[in-house]
Amino acid sequence: MQVFAILPAAGLGTRMAGPQPKQFLSLDGTPILIHCLRAFAAVDRISALYVAVRKAELERVEAEVAEYGFGDRVHVVEGGDTRQESVVNALAAVPAAAEDIVLVHDAVRPLIDTATIDRTIDAVAQYGAAIVGLPAVDTIKQVERTAHGALITATIPREFIVHAQTPQGFRYGLLQKALTEALEDGFVGTDESSVVERAGHPVAVVHGSQVNLKITQPGDLELAEFYLHRRAR
Ligand code: C5P
Repeated sequence: MQVFAILPAAGLGTRMAGPQPKQFLSLDGTPILIHCLRAFAAVDRISALYVAVRKAELERVEAEVAEYGFGDRVHVVEGGDTRQESVVNALAAVPAAAEDIVLVHDAVRPLIDTATIDRTIDAVAQYGAAIVGLPAVDTIKQVERTAHGALITATIPREFIVHAQTPQGFRYGLLQKALTEALEDGFVGTDESSVVERAGHPVAVVHGSQVNLKITQPGDLELAEFYLHRRAR
């Protein structure tokens, strides 16, 4: 059984309001995408990694991958207009068999650790599908958006809530089938798990950490730097 990793990195990062998409910003002197690649490359049982980027960035990222010494274990492919499309494009390049495992990881979660990646692979081997999730600590409210702001419509017991993170891993055959069904039905999910859930397959949850944050808004970089330095101590 082989394991592959896909890093969708073709987003524009509009919420960060900077000149560069967030996956290319520097964290402690190294691009965020490179931090992500290093974490996955450190897991020996991952055979190859596939990064999906915008067409205009193909050459630059290929050069960066070579510069940081990943060799031919990392492949750069063209992404799409949605995260899901980027994953579909990358998956088309993965030489996997149905029983092989494919992990998908946000290229903007640079603090993922090898132990969590390992536990995710083990859970996928056991259940066929597993994602990293963080149990909710806040009380969760469902709201209705109105012209005057949000109005609460329900309180969802937090023991039933986890925040979905990545990596999210699946048997290749399952992910491929679920993505094809989603395409046929015009469903676009914000993560791969939602696509596999609607295909009717159970998805297990591996305990995540708030350190595995998604660099999304200004301020997240400083927090990531803090975690990175704390880890190095
Ligand atoms: O902001 P968002 O949650 O969509 O980003 C999650 C990941 O998906 C990021 O790594 C981003 O670069 C990637 N993405 C992509 N192709 C898109 C949109 C997002 O690969 N068209």
